[in-house]
Amino acid sequence: MTEVVLSTDRTLISNHHGKEFLGFGATGAPVLLPRGVWMYLFAPRMKVDSEGRPWQAPYGMRKIEAALQNAGYDAQIIDPDHLEKHLENAKVLLISHHDYFGFGPPSSTFASIFKMKTVNALSFEEFMEKPEIRAAKKRGLKIIAGGPAAWQWSYREEERKRWGVDTVVEGEGERIVVELVEKALRGEKLPEWVTMPPKEAPLLREIPTIKAPSVNGMVEIMRGCPRGCKFCSVTLRPLRFIPYKNIEKEILVNVRGGVKDGIFQSEDVPLYGAKGVIPNAEKVLKLMRLGKKHYRKLVWSHASIAALVKGERDDKLITRCAEILLDENQSWWGAEIGVETGSPRLAEKIMPAKAKPFDTKEWPSLVVEAAGIMEDTHLTPAMTLITGLPEETEDDIIKTLELVDELWDFKAIIMPMFFVPMGLLKDRDWFKAYKLSEAHVELLKRCLTHGIRQGKRILKDYFDDRWWGTLMIPFYWTFISAIERAARHYGYLSYPQGKEDTEKTPFKSIGESVKIGLHRIRPGAH
Ligand code: SF4
Repeated sequence: MTEVVLSTDRTLISNHHGKEFLGFGATGAPVLLPRGVWMYLFAPRMKVDSEGRPWQAPYGMRKIEAALQNAGYDAQIIDPDHLEKHLENAKVLLISHHDYFGFGPPSSTFASIFKMKTVNALSFEEFMEKPEIRAAKKRGLKIIAGGPAAWQWSYREEERKRWGVDTVVEGEGERIVVELVEKALRGEKLPEWVTMPPKEAPLLREIPTIKAPSVNGMVEIMRGCPRGCKFCSVTLRPLRFIPYKNIEKEILVNVRGGVKDGIFQSEDVPLYGAKGVIPNAEKVLKLMRLGKKHYRKLVWSHASIAALVKGERDDKLITRCAEILLDENQSWWGAEIGVETGSPRLAEKIMPAKAKPFDTKEWPSLVVEAAGIMEDTHLTPAMTLITGLPEETEDDIIKTLELVDELWDFKAIIMPMFFVPMGLLKDRDWFKAYKLSEAHVELLKRCLTHGIRQGKRILKDYFDDRWWGTLMIPFYWTFISAIERAARHYGYLSYPQGKEDTEKTPFKSIGESVKIGLHRIRPGAH
């Protein structure tokens, strides 16, 4: 039995039905439907082997598992439902999360709107309260917490003590994890808090290659970001481009493990191999060809507005990427894209380099130009807005609303995320104290209405890559419709002037959505 177990709650040990974007659903507040239905829709159980090891596991945890295995430890990621027999003998439990307590965007947005804890925060609490973890802790188990949301523990000291988390590691963990686990196994006292500063970030040769499949075939192609936005921690980390040969090794780990589709992870995929913020078209195209050589379908984790526009204007880069990516297996691809604001004034303050090499004054028109490029190349993004920043004025919010209106017909999800002052998080029920201004509420309503309308459009193509996927359409259609009905009932729908509620949705009824699903799975239906 392994001495070192890595695990976390179900919202992360899931492949979200093979659709990474559905994972965001777990950041919602469990309203309208029972929480079990939310979990089924957005974080279903993962297939496991006879030892309870999940088929796919979060990419960051696979990296830590590989670092420990390379150092000679029998470290294994174990599914949260199969911990009992492993924790009988384990001496160390490593946990990781994107959002332990639901403080991150978009969870904090949903928590502050609905004044309740989100699905992921509740799921993590349940995980930590598991009897097998409590019993192992009494036997002397050491618990080390890390991952991108490690910072959240500094606002939950009481839980850290109650659950017996011995150490929290903030920052990239590959360099420190072996030392900490060694100490824990020797029975030495662990430091309560370890912060890995950017200058201690692992060098390329110190970043291990994953040894088992990652969730939805995720493979990292670069770390860090050169843009320096004030609200973002990634920006402090040095930029490192992962070499093609390492990328290919990880793709093959996934493909050989039965994961056919993949995601390239980076803060800005079109900046792979770039000098500064100018895309290097040849390097990006080589990367796309490498991905499609092995993966049936390939999507991007993130891209920036400026890199999309610059790459397309100079080299037709996005069009050429689409020519490589889109084929008989793939009709669209996705990426998360930070829009953040429609106000050049605010953009200048909070993200002065986000528009580079262009002038920040052009920001809204760059966003609209990028939307046109994406529409033409079948790139369907999840766009984020950040609002509620201390520097924000009413006029800034109105400019963001105007930008949303300009994107009204663009097939995308626009997700507003509210900046929550860190001090507020100290309060146990911080979400009850969070106040939204009228302008914020209007922005929220507009994005919700846009999301319902475009969500139904996106749904039509979302499951088109697998025959059973189309059977899922009615479930998600019902979910979106339930939100629409509730929003209409409470007066939460809001339209740009002249675009009032006259539009046809892709499906008029659940029966129609089922019909489309069945039509798709009939042989030769296309
Ligand atoms: S562009 Fe994105 S990743 Fe880079 S610093 Fe800004 S918010 Fe962070």
